[in-house]
Amino acid sequence: MNMDTIDYQGLLERVCEETRPLAGKGHAADYIPALAEISTDHFGMALIDTKGGLYSVGDADIPFSIQSISKVFTLTLALRELGNEVWSRVGREPSGHPFNSLIQLENEQGIPRNPFINAGALVVADMLLEAHPDPRDKILTFVRMLSANNSILIDERVALSEKRAAHRNAALTHFMKSFGNIGGEVEDVLNLYCNHCSIAMSCIDLARAFRFLAQKGIHQRFEEPVLTFSLTKRLNSLMMTSGLYNESGEFAYRVGLPAKSGVGGGIVAVLPGHFSMAAWGPGLNERGNSLRGIEALDRFTTISGLSIF
Ligand code: GLN
Repeated sequence: MNMDTIDYQGLLERVCEETRPLAGKGHAADYIPALAEISTDHFGMALIDTKGGLYSVGDADIPFSIQSISKVFTLTLALRELGNEVWSRVGREPSGHPFNSLIQLENEQGIPRNPFINAGALVVADMLLEAHPDPRDKILTFVRMLSANNSILIDERVALSEKRAAHRNAALTHFMKSFGNIGGEVEDVLNLYCNHCSIAMSCIDLARAFRFLAQKGIHQRFEEPVLTFSLTKRLNSLMMTSGLYNESGEFAYRVGLPAKSGVGGGIVAVLPGHFSMAAWGPGLNERGNSLRGIEALDRFTTISGLSIF
């Protein structure tokens, strides 16, 4: 296939149109009250190719709560700081369970299956607390740099709402601390986690921020690679196997791209060597992933034939 002749803009417009019947379908995440207020009619997509061409459709420039997509940024920072040490405290296998499940932790001695379920991301947050005096600022600065957008903020209202409703995440953190897999104070880990989940970014910001994953770790705004080629490949592999929790297999089957979702309704996907793209539709399916976002990405790769397979 000649990648130079692909009409990305036309493809985005077509999948946006074809998925319009799904507007308003699904439910916004309601266990975090501040997220339940978002209209499920929103929809946007953005794609940036490795030549820097930016294509977008719909609400691509409206910031939304990135939620679990932030776990890719925190894991990237932890890998930059600690390299393979990360894997002594968190695994690399799909969990097959919902993102907030407690069920495997007891059998597996408090070592979460992977860094993209909540338990895994809470351990990564603990690692960042150990490594930095102000990890919240470190994450925000990193994300702003990756997105070339200094106005990216943490939505304090969402963070507070999330913190108040964080009973499961508190349980997960306490439980892991009982196994010795959390070094810091539970309260500090929860605060950092709820803050990074509450970063607000648009599809355009996210497509830009994930660009290094399509470019062997290279990002235009960083002098050194963001990650080595090997770690970049591995991060993409983890997104492929665990990026959509217990829907990762179905997503790989339908879309065929490494991706990461969040309960704010965002999904970011990467075709290494070619592009990074983000879709946003706040209506979720029963597994907590964007209903219209998955359908749009499915159509995008099915119509174009673009996938890693
Ligand atoms: N902050 C959310 C939570 O902890 C993230 C979950 C998600 O996006 N899947 O429940």
